[in-house]
Amino acid sequence: TTEIYYDDDADVSTLDNDTVAVLGYGSQGHAHAQNLHESGVDVVVGLREDSSSRSAAEADGLTVETPADAVSQASYVSVLVPDTVQSAVYENAIEPNLEAGDTLQFAHGLNIHYGQIQPPKDIDVTMVAPKSPGHLVRRNYENDEGTPGLLAIDQDATGDAHDRALAYAKAIGCARAGVIETDFQEEVESDLFGEQAVLCGGVTALVKHGYETLVDAGYSPEIAYFECLNELKLIVDLMYEGGNGGMWDSVSDTAEYGGLTRGERILDDSVRENMEEVLEEVQNGEFTREWILENQAGRPSYNQLRQAEKDHEIEEVGERLRDLFAWADEESSESESEKAE
Ligand code: NDP
Ligand code: MG
Ligand code: MG
Repeated sequence: TTEIYYDDDADVSTLDNDTVAVLGYGSQGHAHAQNLHESGVDVVVGLREDSSSRSAAEADGLTVETPADAVSQASYVSVLVPDTVQSAVYENAIEPNLEAGDTLQFAHGLNIHYGQIQPPKDIDVTMVAPKSPGHLVRRNYENDEGTPGLLAIDQDATGDAHDRALAYAKAIGCARAGVIETDFQEEVESDLFGEQAVLCGGVTALVKHGYETLVDAGYSPEIAYFECLNELKLIVDLMYEGGNGGMWDSVSDTAEYGGLTRGERILDDSVRENMEEVLEEVQNGEFTREWILENQAGRPSYNQLRQAEKDHEIEEVGERLRDLFAWADEESSESESEKAE
């Protein structure tokens, strides 16, 4: 069975003799750095000289150094720059300044699992991965609430890697909610599959197909938008609270019968086969190779796909409707600042 840890299983004072370098002050970085600091851990933020995040970190009362200087001062290095720049930052700023017994920590295992970063054997390599966008990690901490997280140990050179990572997880607020033990392979492969097949890729494709089917059949774009996109939040909220069962209990019998008889026809065995293919590309490293090459080439397909997504009619209809209706007002400032995953 899966091990889950809570506040009582962890001791932040384990990090009393450490300085933690938080590299990056973006979505995760700003949350980890401030939560650690307020939990009494010594923190130094590592940012480039010309970093656009520098003023924010300083305004939050944190010490900022270059990534190389931050790593030299620290015994615990939390790598929270984007995945695509981590191997360069590792080569230039981290590796030359690591010492035996230091901890190198990630919030996502991509670069370790696919061998883009190969740390020396005499350091601990760990992961504390909040299962949430950074802005919620911060907000929950401020509200005395927790954010569920994952913990994994890739290398335990000191024999203390687990206790230390658990202390970090507690200091950023994850152990208030629960920290699930996993390993780098499981975290990376399940995370990539989930975001591609279900959470980000699958859901947006489902919404667009539904919208297009209605609009092509002559229904109004506004009605199609409400039905296929806007209402999704209400349904997902019910699933979040009570699982699929809670959702089925709340919708009408008509919706339940229609969904139960039609859902598997929409997402049929061919969808399952496509999912298995996508999972295989994650497992055999094909996806990651493609993404690394895409970055090396200056992201031509990525930019093109992003633009096409922005140009889709559903975006223009949605923007118009969100301006007209009040529901978007309260949440727009949040969703702008949150990079959900
Ligand atoms: P962000 O894109 O928000 O990180 C941006 C920060 O990194 C900025 O402070 C930026 O500063 C700095 N940065 C960018 N490039 C460099 C560079 N070359 N050298 C130094 N600093 C740089 O990252 P995330 O928080 O989204 O992701 C960090 C890690 O957390 C990743 O491993 C990700 O997979 C993981 N994660 C992210 C989640 C999320 O919700 N976003 C959820 C769970 C895990 P500058 O102004 O200098 O560019
Ligand atoms: Mg992810
Ligand atoms: Mg209905």
